[in-house]
Amino acid sequence: MTSRVGKLIRTIRAPRSFCSSQSGFRAVFLGAPGVGKGTFASRIGPHYNVPILSTGDMIRSEIRQKSEIGLQVKAISERGDLVPDEIVTAMAKAQTEKSLDGWILDGFPRTITQAEALQTFAPPNLVINLNLPEDILLEKIISRRVCKSCGENYNLADINRSGIVMGPLLPKKDGFCDKCDGELIQRSDDTEDVVRNRLTIYNEQTVPLINFYQNIGKLLDFQIKTGVKDLQRLIDSIDSARAS
Ligand SMILES: [Zn+2]
Repeated sequence: MTSRVGKLIRTIRAPRSFCSSQSGFRAVFLGAPGVGKGTFASRIGPHYNVPILSTGDMIRSEIRQKSEIGLQVKAISERGDLVPDEIVTAMAKAQTEKSLDGWILDGFPRTITQAEALQTFAPPNLVINLNLPEDILLEKIISRRVCKSCGENYNLADINRSGIVMGPLLPKKDGFCDKCDGELIQRSDDTEDVVRNRLTIYNEQTVPLINFYQNIGKLLDFQIKTGVKDLQRLIDSIDSARAS
């Protein structure tokens, strides 16, 4: 670790906790971009009464506050480089230390180095891997439409194959938002090339993590079949994994 990074990490203040031991529901969510990870996490969190800790949100918040760490991270990402493991790990550590009764981590760990570090300060008791076949994921993402004015989401894909049934989410009037009549557009990063590239990077990063958690017996593989309607089935799977 360079002294510069070390100095930055010391600026991320963790609260002085009376006890560093962790209890309660501690879950990591894995899942490709577009799989609905945020949607599931935002419902699972309240169900188990734990906060969702997103390292992406933490980083954006540091950048907004123009903190020393925020400015440094901004410069790193503007160069197109990845934020170093040490910085993201320090942020995750500070957040988990504030939530001793449990948490859901979204976006962390992303690398084996991060996963090994997490084991030392807040080992998760469950790692939920949300699965959807890649061709279906791709079709879902390139069929997304978003309202240019209010940001409402729609989806044109009508999927019914391989046991997976996901209907479209269509506007009443073709090409226009139900809420505000704004124009519906495709996000510029929702094209097939960009999505394929994103998925390749995700797979390269995540397959080793899946193996890591499989090997220590913490992995729960969950097949998505109908989207958000799978929520109760997911809760049932989590409960039986925790009981075993
Ligand atoms: Zn709208």
